[in-house]
Amino acid sequence: MKYWNPYLETLPRGDLERIELSYFRNILSFAKEHSILYREKLKGIEGRDIQSFDDLKRIPLTDKEELRRYQEMEPFPYGGILGTDIGKVTTFRQTSGTTGKPVYVPETYESWQWRIEAWCHILYMAGFRPRHRIFLPFVYNVYVAFWEGHYASEKLGCELIPGGGLDTKGRIYKILEVKANAMMNTPTYGLHIAEEAKNLGIDPASLGIERMLCAGEPMPLATRLRLEQVYRCPVYDHIGGTEPCAWAGMCEAQDGMHVIEPFFLVEILDRETLQKEVEEGQMGVAVVTPLGRRSFPLIRFNTKDLVIRGKDSCACGRTSKKIKEVVGRTDDLRKVRGVLFSPKTVEEVIRREFQEVEEFEIVVERRDLMDVISLRAEVNPRLPISSIEQTKARLKESLKIATNLSFNVIMEPPGSLPRYMLKAKRFKDMREGEKNE
Ligand SMILES: [Zn+2]
Repeated sequence: MKYWNPYLETLPRGDLERIELSYFRNILSFAKEHSILYREKLKGIEGRDIQSFDDLKRIPLTDKEELRRYQEMEPFPYGGILGTDIGKVTTFRQTSGTTGKPVYVPETYESWQWRIEAWCHILYMAGFRPRHRIFLPFVYNVYVAFWEGHYASEKLGCELIPGGGLDTKGRIYKILEVKANAMMNTPTYGLHIAEEAKNLGIDPASLGIERMLCAGEPMPLATRLRLEQVYRCPVYDHIGGTEPCAWAGMCEAQDGMHVIEPFFLVEILDRETLQKEVEEGQMGVAVVTPLGRRSFPLIRFNTKDLVIRGKDSCACGRTSKKIKEVVGRTDDLRKVRGVLFSPKTVEEVIRREFQEVEEFEIVVERRDLMDVISLRAEVNPRLPISSIEQTKARLKESLKIATNLSFNVIMEPPGSLPRYMLKAKRFKDMREGEKNE
């Protein structure tokens, strides 16, 4: 079977949009009735007022800061964001808290199952099937993503090996021992496992991984291709967040990502005004409304994810709205010396042209009223010393071409930069007044 849900995944767009508007009206009325946040926020707006996509503009966006504020109320710890009786909550999860106080996410059994079903679409689209024995090399802790991946792969009929509680070396040997043939990963950790395997004298391609789904960080094309090259298998991407759930994923055509419709109503809005939808090929901010989740209703949630809108058709036959590319977080897009800069461009250059660079960090500082941008790079210890200066000069040149900025390139000794498994923070803006999230 080609689709997880053949009916929904091939519905004509007009039908999908009608269903989404109808679900939207329902969730709006429900949220007003059951959540303190929306009772106050949406005074004067009723579900029936929303008859077209144009009408959505009348509803203010919701952001993380508001969720944090409202969860300070009773009942502890969810407060005014709760959409159900607290006695019905069966699952506690939370955001990572890297940008401030975490948001606590309440799910009832029913709404948790809704999240799992959305995840089944992500995995099935990426070609995961019952024949796969999936290795998940993480401790799941209180975060949602890997728990969702875990339960969704079970629902799909795959076999799931939880690989937490081991170090990287232990994980590599476990993959070989149980003959795992698929993996969920973060791009950074995928590359790290490959690096570690090589240190152990194991070719990552010989691990036998047939497909990999990545999450957690924007993955430039060059990073995905590098993972595909070292593991010799297709690698798929998806996008989501703790609050809205995973809302789009890559199909086997590997040409952008499909929004999981009609589970989510996704708008891609002009970055400056946050008002109108952008056209195909343009960049905008993803605003997401999960349409079937009631324990924690979210209406027009501003994900702060910058994406490029794709064309709404695909070789796979699915009819859903498409994302061409994830650019990064709105918070990461900065002006440096008057030039708009995205850290993702640097990663793209390094993964594409500099196989010898194993880890890097970008630092922006202000010295004598001037912005100074530096790249700290760590190369493979096996690289001959005579080549290091050459790499440095090439980095400077390639980064200038890609970003229009002159980088101060600093070569660091092996092992001196931090290694990440989740939520890599390779961009540091030290200028006063610039938020460094
Ligand atoms: Zn497709």
